[in-house]
Amino acid sequence: QAKREGKNGVQFFQKSLDAAVHGQLHLEARLRAALDAGGLHLHYQPQVDTTTGALLGFEALVRWTDTQLGLVSPARFIPLAEEAGLIGDLGEWVLNEACRQAAEWGLRVPVAVNVSALEVAQEDFTQRVHATLRRHGLDGGQLKLEVTERLSVQDLQRAARQLAQLHGLGVQLSLDDFGTGQSSVSTLLQLPLNELKLDRSLITGVAESPIEQRVVSALISLGRSLNLTVIVEGVETPEQLRVLRDLGCGAVQGYLTGRPGPASMWTPHLNGPLPLNLPERSAGAGDG
Ligand code: C2E
Ligand code: MG
Ligand code: MG
Ligand code: MG
Repeated sequence: QAKREGKNGVQFFQKSLDAAVHGQLHLEARLRAALDAGGLHLHYQPQVDTTTGALLGFEALVRWTDTQLGLVSPARFIPLAEEAGLIGDLGEWVLNEACRQAAEWGLRVPVAVNVSALEVAQEDFTQRVHATLRRHGLDGGQLKLEVTERLSVQDLQRAARQLAQLHGLGVQLSLDDFGTGQSSVSTLLQLPLNELKLDRSLITGVAESPIEQRVVSALISLGRSLNLTVIVEGVETPEQLRVLRDLGCGAVQGYLTGRPGPASMWTPHLNGPLPLNLPERSAGAGDG
């Protein structure tokens, strides 16, 4: 009896494994097809000065809508693209499209592009970025790269060399998701950064929690003492923004100040004030 169950268990396991592998291959093939057929597009989300409401940049976020699967989250397909060896082509498409859009807009603030650590560690990464900037007539300063650390020590050293060269071209570098497992303090010492981007998970309760406030305050001080811009991602409420501003945070990005949307959503607003949602400054807040 037990033996038979065991065997069925193995068969069942084998079946579900086959299904999982099949599903993965299916997804991979569809992603590859989307990449070839122009099935990806970019959304843009504003990065905003907490005191003036000025636009500081746009982050480009890749979107994939599959005809059968519907909208697939990048949190799902970016790791897949990395495993399947598609991240080089995908990253190149994103970089080119974001730079093309920035040039079409005549954007004076940088467009921020997420780059996979695997891409940055590739030998020709610097050259490819440089070629893309030239293709669209952009200065290095019009591009910001958001890096999340997911690298071995050797890869990190290789990435650091590439990033130092790009830094020399004026390209800005941001350490994304800082404060989560993926982005550590030691990375701060190894990469030529301009910006520290605090992860959303650090600030979800910042309006109510004195401990979160102290942690965020310390991280803002850390960034400032290293001459880095500190930006907080995932700001959703006026209370969060008010607290962050009072703690000295200069820049935010989140649903409060603008959801990610297609370029056409932002084009009409580029020459006027953005439709932002900045709360009044709280009375008695320090001047920084
Ligand atoms: P990320 O770079 O940390 O991007 C921020 C994520 O938070 C985005 O999710 C954005 O849509 C979402 N977000 C923005 N404001 C808010 C908010 O107020 N509340 C909440 N709950 N979420 C907010 P998205 O677009 O699903 O992207 C997920 C991750 O996928 C990104 O995290 C980034 O790591 C990766 N990714 C996205 N586009 C690209 C790309 O073109 N290349 C690479 N390599 N990775 C990308
Ligand atoms: Mg990012
Ligand atoms: Mg982030
Ligand atoms: Mg994040």
